[in-house]
Amino acid sequence: MVNFCQKLDGSVVHVSDYDDQAWQLLKESYEVGELVMPCCGAAAVPKTSSNFLKFFAHYSEECSTSPESQWHIKAKDEIVTFLKLFDIEAKLEQSGESRLGSWKADVYFEIESRKVAIEIQHSYQHLRDYLKRQLRYSSANVECYWILYRPRYITLTTSISKYRIKHEFGGEIPSEGLFPCIPELPLVALDVGKDSSSIIGAAGLNSSVENFLYSILEHKFIYQQDRGAWIVIQNS
Ligand SMILES: [Zn+2]
Repeated sequence: MVNFCQKLDGSVVHVSDYDDQAWQLLKESYEVGELVMPCCGAAAVPKTSSNFLKFFAHYSEECSTSPESQWHIKAKDEIVTFLKLFDIEAKLEQSGESRLGSWKADVYFEIESRKVAIEIQHSYQHLRDYLKRQLRYSSANVECYWILYRPRYITLTTSISKYRIKHEFGGEIPSEGLFPCIPELPLVALDVGKDSSSIIGAAGLNSSVENFLYSILEHKFIYQQDRGAWIVIQNS
């Protein structure tokens, strides 16, 4: 079950676009195939849970997409839904140009004068490609935050540690240890749970998705120079 689906013309329909009356009308009037699931393109059906939550579900069978793809869609769903709670209208698959090439963000929004992209990465990508894509965003004046599928996070942070040991510490692991973070790449992992999901990061970062997004909005997800880690500042 998800909070949004797509119409045949590609536009996104979110449960929060409907009040109870409009939702009832949709349930009575939609035709099978008119709404499709964002994960696999199968027909979607609007439903209401026993505790009155609106959602879309697969019309017939279970979703046939891989765990990675299901993670991707759930992650995107949660992020868009929590941003709505903060009154932010996020756009999906927004693209743009920079002098270093074009970009296309999984989730994109603007708040005051800030442009913010959230990349939800479930497939393998080399560290240099993360950095290349990040540079396109920064040269277009877009802040970009990376949210990774846990196995990808483990691979990437291992690469970052090796990179730091080689470039900053002359090939020797520093005795005080190091966090797998570099200032130019804000990144965390997202574990999707049945009831709740959590954001996991370096230096003990462990947060709800909602609090993590709030920390981005409030400039509280920052790179702390002296610790060499991306952290969420807890109090103001
Ligand atoms: Zn599906």
